Formats: sequence, structure tokens, C-alpha cells
Amino acid sequence: MAHNFLSRLTGSFAMPAAENPTVAMVEAAYRHHGLDIRYINCEVPPEKLGDAVKGARAMGWIGFNCSIPHKVAVIEHLDGLGDSAAIMGAVNCAVRRGEKFIGENTDGKGFLQSLRTVADPAGQTVVMFGAGGAARAIGVELAFAGASRIIVVNRDEKRGAVLVDLLNGKTKVKAEFVSWRGSYRIPPEASIVVNATSIGLYPDVEARLAIDPASLRPGLVVADVIPNPPRTHLVREAQARGCTVLDGLGMVVNQGVIGIKYWTGVNVEASVMRRRLEELFGA
Ligand code: NDP
Repeated sequence: MAHNFLSRLTGSFAMPAAENPTVAMVEAAYRHHGLDIRYINCEVPPEKLGDAVKGARAMGWIGFNCSIPHKVAVIEHLDGLGDSAAIMGAVNCAVRRGEKFIGENTDGKGFLQSLRTVADPAGQTVVMFGAGGAARAIGVELAFAGASRIIVVNRDEKRGAVLVDLLNGKTKVKAEFVSWRGSYRIPPEASIVVNATSIGLYPDVEARLAIDPASLRPGLVVADVIPNPPRTHLVREAQARGCTVLDGLGMVVNQGVIGIKYWTGVNVEASVMRRRLEELFGA
């Protein structure tokens, strides 16, 4: 399809369409690299999701992101899935390949790319708090990256068990579940700790994970998924105790970098995107 007059389009099928930092972040990268592409946010109610995907096909979009509540429902409207999206059963990024829209999941890949700036998870024991969508995406990518053991610590036992079964059944990692009751002590064999819960997300910014702070020892890598605010209580506490910390902006930015690479083939500058988010989140 020719686009002599129109920029190419990418976007986000989200709901609701309130202020969307992803738009600002992605468009900052497009501008910086002189890419003649727009990224627009469309509010899509669940019952119109199929029509929205048809519309994206009709208009020749090169791809789109989708967020809650569309991450699972979108699958039936796509033509295939990437490996990790198939295992997770969730898509946050559709990519046009030829005439097909293929569903990928860049959340976990973005986390991993951010983690790799400070540590290689291969052969490591990871403690991961949470068992929701973010934890599922991160757990699968950590397993693919060769982590040897993942301890899933979650409040809801059923949800935790489902994630552990998925990881043990579909990847090579050894996953185990710990029910989160009271203050959790990070075991000495763990080298990476991930907060994949929503604890600390705006506006509940002073919320704390129930962790024995003394077990946050120097040298441990502590990664938080919370993007807003980036300096969560966990990030501050872990940093004060000598841990290497990663905030949630790294994950957002890198999932954006990976999505744009899928859509355009261009490796965009992560720092440009991060700066734009920091302006928005006041980091
Ligand atoms: P879900 O609702 O699927 O899962 C939330 C998880 O947090 C569950 O494991 C839940 O435990 C746990 N949780 C929430 N509140 C508490 C609490 N008070 N005490 C103990 N556990 C708690 O959400 P998602 O997985 O989709 O998202 C989680 C976070 O990840 C969000 O804050 C989101 O902003 C962030 N995120 C960040 C991304 C990034 O790029 N930085 C990308 C995607 C998500 P339980 O099962 O017991 O209810």
C-alpha cells in the first residue's frame, strides 16, 4: 500500500484514553530519528476491538500496542503469535509482517533489556514478587534468558500457583511458589529481586512491599516495574542498602524500543525516550 501523503501509522488501543505517556515517548523517538510515522492513542471499548483491528488493517498501520483490557482478547483478531506471547497468552504489541498482524509481547523483553544493562540472569536465582500480567511476562523472558530458578512470592496462592505451573510446564526454569505472609526474607542464594506487583504505583506512592529490609544486601540487583513514580520506596530503600537498582522506566522505555524495532527495523535511542518520560513523571 502506498503512502505518498500520509505518514505511516502506529498506535495504542487503550482504554480509557486519558493522558498517555507512551504516545509522548514513542513520538519523541520518531522525531529524534526523523521517522515519518505517527503514534496515536485510540480509545477502544472491548466490544469494538475486532473493528479497531480491521480498521488498522484497512489503513495500512504497521503495528499497534494494546493495553489492559485488550491484551488477551486481541489474540483472536490477529494472524499469529510470537513465541513468548504464545506462552504468556497475552499480546501488547501487534506487528504487521507482510499482510499479517502478528502478536508479540514486549513487556518482558523490555524488562530483560533493562536488566541486562546491569546483570545477566543466566544461571541466577530470582525472587519475583507478584503473579499478574507483568510477572507472567517477566517470568517467561527470564526463563528464556536462562535463569535457573524463579521464586514467585505472591499474596493470592491460586494465582501464584498458576504462574509457577506455567513456568515449569512451558520453560526450562525451576519455578517455586512462596505464599506471601508477613515479611519475606530474600534468601542468600538469590541475586536478582523483581517487584512485579502494583505496590507503589501512583497515587499509593508510599506503599511498601513486606520484605525484611535487612535481607536487601549490597550487590543484590533490585528491579521495580513501577514506572510512576520511578523512585519507589523499594528503589530508595534498596539503593540506600547498597543494592544495584533498576526503576520501572527502564522497562517502559525498552518495550518501546523493541516495539519500534519490530515495526520499522530502526534501533531507536532509549535515552531520548527516557528523557521524555522523566519530564512527564518528574523523575
Ligand atoms: P495485575 O493486576 O495483573 O497483578 C498485580 C499483582 O500485584 C498481583 O500479583 C497482586 O497480587 C499484586 N498486588 C497488588 N497489590 C498488592 C498488595 N497490596 N500486596 C501484595 N500484592 C499485591 O497487574 P499487572 O501485572 O498487569 O501490573 C503490575 C504492575 O506492573 C502495575 O503497577 C503496572 O503499572 C506495572 N507494569 C509496568 C510495566 C512497565 O513497562 N514498567 C509494564 C506492565 C506493567 P494478588 O495476586 O495477590 O492480588
